[in-house]
Amino acid sequence: MRSPRGLLLALLLAAATLSYAADDLVVKRFVVNAGTAAEPFPVNSYLVCHRPSRSAVLIDPGADDERFAAVAGELGVQVRLVLNTHGHFDHVGGNRALRERFAARLAAPAGDRPLYEKSGNAAAVDTWFQDGQALDAGGFPVQVLATPGHTPGSSCFLIGGQLFSGDTLMAGGVGRVPEGKNEEKALKALARVIRRKLLALPAATVVWPGHGRPTTIGEEGLLNPFLN
Ligand SMILES: [Zn+2]
Repeated sequence: MRSPRGLLLALLLAAATLSYAADDLVVKRFVVNAGTAAEPFPVNSYLVCHRPSRSAVLIDPGADDERFAAVAGELGVQVRLVLNTHGHFDHVGGNRALRERFAARLAAPAGDRPLYEKSGNAAAVDTWFQDGQALDAGGFPVQVLATPGHTPGSSCFLIGGQLFSGDTLMAGGVGRVPEGKNEEKALKALARVIRRKLLALPAATVVWPGHGRPTTIGEEGLLNPFLN
């Protein structure tokens, strides 16, 4: 039998999934330069727009890119929440400017707090989230799935049945783990977390990674060499 807590979690997850209709969400992917003109460093940033509430979240703004505001304006949505999958520089570069521009809240993984403190980015964070938390994105829920390995706090977001996987899972790859003598062990642990938490999602789940093209859970379960 399920524990009361397990049952509550299942109900919350069901509610989070059920509150979306098929065309409620619009996902816009931006390839943003988190580096310099001389040394470009492309990263995927996502604007996830929820039509019924006219709210949006901005995931991993690697830079202060003016296209975010332009597209949010075209779609008539207000960015209420800026989210980071993890604390690496290429995913957080636009945090401060965009939090201000949109008067949005900034949420980041609690497990990466030391990274933010080291880089001087911690003061701008409004919410440090944990595994399993449901964040309110201004009228629609974002479910946090902690997937530690690439960084201690690395997390994925489930929004209306679509997965935003940061540097945890990419088409044909997984994020790098810290180098050193424990590297192999860490990579195995990461693969275990991905299999247990992400590959358990429906095969048709669209995966939007931090780098490269989108994929699906089904495709990665079959073809990703790091998971097989
Ligand atoms: Zn990273």
